[in-house]
Amino acid sequence: MDEETRLIHAGQIEGLPAKTVSPPVQRGSTVLLPNARALYDGTLGYGRAGLSAQFALMDALAELEGAEDVQLYPSGLAAMTAAMLAVLRAGDHVLVVDTVYRPVRYFCDRVLRRFRVSVDYYDPRLDADGVLALASPSTRLLVLESPGSLSFEMQDATAIAAAARARGILTLLDNTWGAGRLYKPLAHGVDISVQALTKYVCGHSDVFMGSVATADTGLAMLMQASIQDHGWSVAPEDAYQALRGLRTLATRLDRHGESGLTVAAWLVDQPDVLQVLHPALPGAPGHDLWARDYSGACGLFGVVLQPGPPARVEAFLDALDIFGLGFSWGGFESLAISCDPQLMARKIRVDYGGPLMRLHVGLEAPADLIADLRTGLDAYGA
Ligand SMILES: *Cc1c(COP(=O)(O)O)cnc(C)c1O
Repeated sequence: MDEETRLIHAGQIEGLPAKTVSPPVQRGSTVLLPNARALYDGTLGYGRAGLSAQFALMDALAELEGAEDVQLYPSGLAAMTAAMLAVLRAGDHVLVVDTVYRPVRYFCDRVLRRFRVSVDYYDPRLDADGVLALASPSTRLLVLESPGSLSFEMQDATAIAAAARARGILTLLDNTWGAGRLYKPLAHGVDISVQALTKYVCGHSDVFMGSVATADTGLAMLMQASIQDHGWSVAPEDAYQALRGLRTLATRLDRHGESGLTVAAWLVDQPDVLQVLHPALPGAPGHDLWARDYSGACGLFGVVLQPGPPARVEAFLDALDIFGLGFSWGGFESLAISCDPQLMARKIRVDYGGPLMRLHVGLEAPADLIADLRTGLDAYGA
């Protein structure tokens, strides 16, 4: 054969040359099949469905979620929208918690409604009877997020899932805060557990990914069919990074949770702070539900400052040095944002009593973070 041809086919490796701690990163759109029969006998035949790194990650996440099946998506938002599209059809009605991650709300309003799926938003403080009172015979799906984005309201997912199931309504919970570790939605009767792996599982603010976990065979088949129909796929390098993050998830969460509570407890005592919205903090809203259902806390919570004008909120944020100003969370670093502009999209306007800030407590030393917040609060009060 000509060297041109030999260069194209040289360097093939049969099997793995050595076993490493982590899976190999297989890059491949094309999968080479062993013989003609395998082309059409159901053997894995195309790389979009995932290769070694993606399969290793799906297995590990199934272990984490107590799931029969886990599917991967290119972002947390894609996981939420794909799970909804997998179970909904024209004419269905969906009940979505008003504190849902805001881009999910845009998907509901712009896309679902275009396909004749009607959507209503419900108050996160409603109990199971209150939520189910809003359901109609066409209600197919109930979307929960607990604690809620930005304002951290806890939902009684156990009671809501049981009541929904009794009426033949599916439940989906965005469990990004619980990270699959602190809270186990499937074990509490929720049908579909979604995570933005971008946050704590990846853990380093550098990869986008989402997962959908189910414990029911029928739902698992729907998710698998939908991923094929829509063509979702995640890159092997990204799956590898997510799996690498997963290895230290438990250890990192212990530290995020402990440091977060240290910082939150300090904030409670500051005169410029009206209230701290952290479900794991004794006396905070939702603490009883957290104590009943959660094995720990992550580093994300809300802080309401004493009433003050937007210019002082900006002064608070601009005075921070260790806390970066940025969206997202779950990485090793501390972050802060103001939330009030985002609350405008909500249907139910809650007066939190002052400007609402969100803090992500990272893996820095808590004393340094407290000193940074002291500087910020001095600028706020000044
Ligand atoms: C960030 C986030 C998402 C979306 O995740 P991406 O990977 O950024 O798309 C979904 N839900 C919650 C609660 C989030 O915080």
